[in-house]
Amino acid sequence: MVPLIERKKFGGELSADEIGWLLRGYVAGEVPDYQMSAWLMAVRLRGMTEAETLAMTRAMVASGRELEWSGIGRPTVDKHSTGGVGDKTSIVLVPLMAAAGAAFVKMSGRGLGHTGGTLDKLESIPGFRVDIAPDRMRAQVERVGAALVGQSPELVPADGKLYALRDVTATVDSVPLIASSIMSKKLAGGARSVVLDVKWGSGAFMTSLPEARELAATLVRIGEGAGRATRAVLSSMREPLGRAVGNALEVREAIETLHGAGPGDLWALTLELGAHQLLMAGLAPDAEAARERLTELRDSGAGARKLAELVEAQHGDARVVDDPSLLAAAPVVVTMEAEDDEPRWVAEADARAIGDAALLLGAGRRQKGDPIDPAVGVMLRARIGDRVERGQPLADVHARTPAEADAAIRALRAAFVLSPEAVDAAEDEYEVIGKEQVVA
Ligand code: URA
Repeated sequence: MVPLIERKKFGGELSADEIGWLLRGYVAGEVPDYQMSAWLMAVRLRGMTEAETLAMTRAMVASGRELEWSGIGRPTVDKHSTGGVGDKTSIVLVPLMAAAGAAFVKMSGRGLGHTGGTLDKLESIPGFRVDIAPDRMRAQVERVGAALVGQSPELVPADGKLYALRDVTATVDSVPLIASSIMSKKLAGGARSVVLDVKWGSGAFMTSLPEARELAATLVRIGEGAGRATRAVLSSMREPLGRAVGNALEVREAIETLHGAGPGDLWALTLELGAHQLLMAGLAPDAEAARERLTELRDSGAGARKLAELVEAQHGDARVVDDPSLLAAAPVVVTMEAEDDEPRWVAEADARAIGDAALLLGAGRRQKGDPIDPAVGVMLRARIGDRVERGQPLADVHARTPAEADAAIRALRAAFVLSPEAVDAAEDEYEVIGKEQVVA
């Protein structure tokens, strides 16, 4: 291992065999965390060639089983986000797509650094299990049209281990590491089409648009190279998506969105990603029809009913879909108010700082294996472009103790930049990378 760390430290290239050896050794427990951490940091600082990134992705897939969906009778689709703050899109999109006739095979991740993870969010539903064995997963996808699962000893175990290590060694924000982590899960999941939500902005791992474009292009190249229809949508993570940041709070907001009452930016992104998926899966003739179909499925309640079916299939308490008050609630809720004497406009509600405040409250992990508190987090009461006067709420902090709420409020103050001049609300603008293709 030492010569491989040494080579990467000086910017050299590893062969596919060496990368395969290293990952097999790590999964088998023969390469210890400290050596893997050193190698990951060398990769973070020196990067990887395209050949290395592909070899890394393949070695990660080869660390477990690949799912196979022939005979399932529905087009298989998958989606992944590169990670953001308040991003609960999958919890809205997966049931809608299943209700539209797709088979949604979703292998999600856990929270990473200041960003949340779909698995942690789902586990805030009492009883919800993400460790579904591949055989049961097939039966569930046949019956319900979707499964939301995590990595397991059978599915991309290398990513499960690496993800947890990267989270606590400051090695997340690397194009080849993110690309191989995401695409290994997508390739092993076996779906024919994949839509990738590539975030950029303060709350994303790629803070600038050019870096996010580079990541998107890498993801699409890996997917297309593996014969999957792959499209990437670039979306802003300058402020959090929606108002809720924190696990149970986000599940509640996703449920409200399926009931037609959620925040506009979350619904806009769901429509954008879902329209690409319906088109690639051959389930809609054009983007307008796709958007109409998704809206109909929301308005008829079919999406919410499908979420309840999905929750029930994964041992969760499906009553939360009609009664989100069954979700965990924090004992202390403190409102942070605007303090300026003159009216102000919200110029920034910095996603990274808000994600860090939620982490401070216990909504994420600081160390590998840390427990998370499903109930805590932040509810934004003001967003970019809103006008606020003294005493008006900027955010509610949901905390375990008054002292933790105070600490989070101190962190949150820095997240809000208030301007004496009017500021426009952030626009829901997306850039798309990848070919138009149908793989029904
Ligand atoms: N999401 C993933 O699945 N992996 C990463 O490395 C980052 C975001």
